[in-house]
Amino acid sequence: MTDSKSILFSGIKPTGELHIGNYFGAMRQQMELFKSGKYRCFIMVADYHALNTVQDAEEMRVRTRELVISYLAIGLDPEEVVIFKQSDVPAHTELAWIFDTITTIPYLMRAHAFKDAQEKNKEISVGVFNYPMLMAADILLYDTTIVPVGQDQKQHIEIARDTARKFNHIFQDDIFVLPEAYITPDVAVVSGTDGKKMSKSYDNVIPLFASQNELTKRVMSIVTDSAGDRPENVYAIHKLVRNENELSLIYEKNKGKYKILKEILLEDLNTYFATIRTRYETLKKDTDIVDDVLAKGKREAIAITDKKMEYVKRTIGMYS
Ligand code: ADP
Repeated sequence: MTDSKSILFSGIKPTGELHIGNYFGAMRQQMELFKSGKYRCFIMVADYHALNTVQDAEEMRVRTRELVISYLAIGLDPEEVVIFKQSDVPAHTELAWIFDTITTIPYLMRAHAFKDAQEKNKEISVGVFNYPMLMAADILLYDTTIVPVGQDQKQHIEIARDTARKFNHIFQDDIFVLPEAYITPDVAVVSGTDGKKMSKSYDNVIPLFASQNELTKRVMSIVTDSAGDRPENVYAIHKLVRNENELSLIYEKNKGKYKILKEILLEDLNTYFATIRTRYETLKKDTDIVDDVLAKGKREAIAITDKKMEYVKRTIGMYS
């Protein structure tokens, strides 16, 4: 590495609209850690991971572009952060193959994502099964020390650690650094409009960037029940954007008035995200920015990973 800063690595799949679960669970921490000045940051658009579900060229292009613009809108500075596409850096898939050779099938069968798919009787592609190996390669290539993610990714970081340990042990070298997950407890699992974990796959999201009509529709669709003192699903989202002392007064005053509480939530979401939404709209009009950012990211990521792969290959006896 060119300097002595610790390394932060994180990625998101360009698979659908970003939601506030992504923002509070991962992106906000990425931003704060970047701003702390303590980390050299790598942010990856995980398009090879996305290929497991997005198998439409136009959708892949559009989602990739939206994701890069979103990162710029939340305030990551592409001059300092390496923002790149996974498919632009061949070392990721190359190293994943090497990891495949030291990993057993029963070990990967313990991964939550695989088990969930199996329980739902879904047909599982080799790509989904192998996902943790590609993710281990993503992280380990950069000598990453921390990976800011939501709780759902914890096991994948543990798999990356195990894989690093295993490789280092087999080849008797300390070539891979053991990464740590960085998870903020109160936003480890942000809940969605139905009270379950907010996720693109559950159709229960509050989008980060969407039209007012769309946002209104989503907020108004938050599932409420009259069992408790307050509508918990509304409150769980509300406390992300407004302090709880203020909220207890508001919820006390509007007991049982769910529509009013949802309207206040909508307004608070709008206030909280106003700046980044304005930036997003402005950036969207810049036709060159995404290509420029990704071209720079590609150059920088390749320079680092080429060096790392040369070292890996020498260690396993493929270069003398
Ligand atoms: P999704 O589950 O909507 O497909 P991704 O898998 O692309 O989202 O997740 C991208 C990042 O956002 C990951 O770090 C993930 O842990 C985080 N994340 C996603 N949903 C949530 C959530 N509901 N709460 C906290 N973090 C989340």
